[in-house]
Amino acid sequence: MSAKIKVAVLGATGAVGQRFVQLLENHPWFEISALAASERSAGKIYEEAVNWKLDTPIPERARKLLVVEAKAGFDAQIAFSGLDSKVAGPIEQEFANAGYAVISNSKNHRMDEDVPLLLPEINADHIELIEIQKKNRSYKKGFIVTNSNCSAMTLCLALAPIDRMFGIEKVMVTTLQAISGAGYPGVPSLDIVGNVVPYIGEEEEKMERETQKILGKYKNSKIEKHPMLLSATTTRVPVIDGHTESVNVKLQKKVSLEEVKSAFRNYSSLPQKLKLPSAPGQPVVLKEEVDRPQPRLDVNINKGMSTIVGRVRPCPIFDYKFVILGHNTVRGAAGAAILNAELLKSQGFLS
Ligand code: NAP
Repeated sequence: MSAKIKVAVLGATGAVGQRFVQLLENHPWFEISALAASERSAGKIYEEAVNWKLDTPIPERARKLLVVEAKAGFDAQIAFSGLDSKVAGPIEQEFANAGYAVISNSKNHRMDEDVPLLLPEINADHIELIEIQKKNRSYKKGFIVTNSNCSAMTLCLALAPIDRMFGIEKVMVTTLQAISGAGYPGVPSLDIVGNVVPYIGEEEEKMERETQKILGKYKNSKIEKHPMLLSATTTRVPVIDGHTESVNVKLQKKVSLEEVKSAFRNYSSLPQKLKLPSAPGQPVVLKEEVDRPQPRLDVNINKGMSTIVGRVRPCPIFDYKFVILGHNTVRGAAGAAILNAELLKSQGFLS
């Protein structure tokens, strides 16, 4: 068996960083060789630096690793980034310049024209941008690939099957987002317990623009954004993990309810064909019960890597409406980045 690829986690002490450390334990292709965070954490061993909040113990391999500052120089081929977006932009560029494959969760480079906003079940061909990026930025070996905002990720996985079959003209979406989406300690308990906060800074704009890029076409060395009209309203609710979204869609064709359900049920794509280690068997899971999906009951279906769709029904204003659910720190963040790395490896970008 060939040696595993060494990977670093930048922002390893944060909500997303912890999820990376958890999901990378026993990964068949990757192993953690470095954990990096701010100068507040650097110099401590991981178990002392981190305020571990996941419901599994800190993996043994990570527990005693010394946390280092997020500066290029350590032995790793991939730098997974869960860095605070206030600092992620230049640090990720520095790592790409130093030859690392940077696979980021932060917003900073998502909309850069030469950076793939990768979602392997939808736009695996967008990785073609990597060669253009390397030329534009004179990167010799390194590059930056991003995954989307967690709400956009959940939404895109649900939109892709029906867009591919029938074409989407318009989307209205309202989110009910979990507290873990705000990192740790995130929203103060006095603001969120027994409450709904109807505003998440910049979230609506991110959902609208990132969805158009993810579902866009790679053509003439550029991404042509999808022409669908989107309107998003984003709210924070007292749920720990799992973003729920209420979605209404206007399609380009008149189709039956059964055709829409069947598009969800049968969606499968390249990661499933390649059997990538983190790819869910079904990227979209259709629930038929009238009161599902629910975050407490359904967020961990397929290890949190699928979008769960339910309550598919006709809409008197648009064509159809439904409710979706996605795990914000797994498929919406660390799990998505790991799947991106698996796709890159399978396509020869990490050789
Ligand atoms: P978080 O819990 O606040 O963690 C931030 C991480 O960044 C910590 O490890 C922190 O290290 C590190 N950091 C802060 N300043 C730094 C500096 N100057 N140099 C190096 N490291 C520094 O945030 P999060 O929720 O994990 O989010 C991380 C990123 O992922 C953000 O860009 C966020 O928008 C994005 N994201 C989050 C989610 C989610 O569901 N939470 C989903 C998708 C995307 P210290 O502990 O040492 O301060």
